[in-house]
Amino acid sequence: MVFDWFRNRRRRGLRERPFPAEWLEIVERNVLDYHDLAADEQARVRSYVQVFVAEKHWEGCGGLAMTDEIRVTVAAMVGVLTVNLTETRYFDAVLSILVYPTAYVDPAAQNRQGHVVTVGDSARLGEAWYRGPVILSWNDVVGGGLRHSRGNVVYHEFAHQLDMLNGGSTDGTPPLDRREQDARWIAVNDAEYAKLCTACAHGRHTVIDCYGATNRAEFFAVTTETFFCKAHALREHHPELYGVLREAYRQDPAARGR
Ligand SMILES: [Zn+2]
Repeated sequence: MVFDWFRNRRRRGLRERPFPAEWLEIVERNVLDYHDLAADEQARVRSYVQVFVAEKHWEGCGGLAMTDEIRVTVAAMVGVLTVNLTETRYFDAVLSILVYPTAYVDPAAQNRQGHVVTVGDSARLGEAWYRGPVILSWNDVVGGGLRHSRGNVVYHEFAHQLDMLNGGSTDGTPPLDRREQDARWIAVNDAEYAKLCTACAHGRHTVIDCYGATNRAEFFAVTTETFFCKAHALREHHPELYGVLREAYRQDPAARGR
């Protein structure tokens, strides 16, 4: 299509620009996972950042001034998440990224349905809406980039966006490459989701946060965070789940030393 041709040409132009030195400093400072990638993966993350920063509408909310640091940090995290997918995913349905300074309170939230990470009463760390904006708390974006134990709200929200790529349904099944992988994905995730629901109902804590027991969409988003942020523990305690996530993301974070 003509539109695709122009878009691809524009993206190629963006990727070919030199990567600003200040941007590289931001990525290296704020996104620890970037350091663990191979050189060719790091190069793909950098070119991804150039397109993603340019194509999205970025808006600071709740008094937060939008900066290159925010844009580049978020874009680099999405780049790390998707770096080895067979098709480069720029998430064309996500037009806007709204960023609040900290966990935020949305008075209209009770009337809407979406995928929300809540803390306490109604404060939010992030949201992902189908064909709507992704909303993030900057404080938690930075915390996630530096301290793996906190999880990563960008990985979480963009896992929801991956999940929505097959037609907008958030069933915890992102578009996968092969049919047999699909069947195994479903079998392993069915079993692991049931186990998590049982454990959480009995107040037992596992390496997977009980927020993942909310529904299948949250299970995928939460296990994505666990896969990247607590890779060793997930591989040790849930090897089959780790295995299907490794195939889906084409990454092996436990082998990279985390
Ligand atoms: Zn969620």
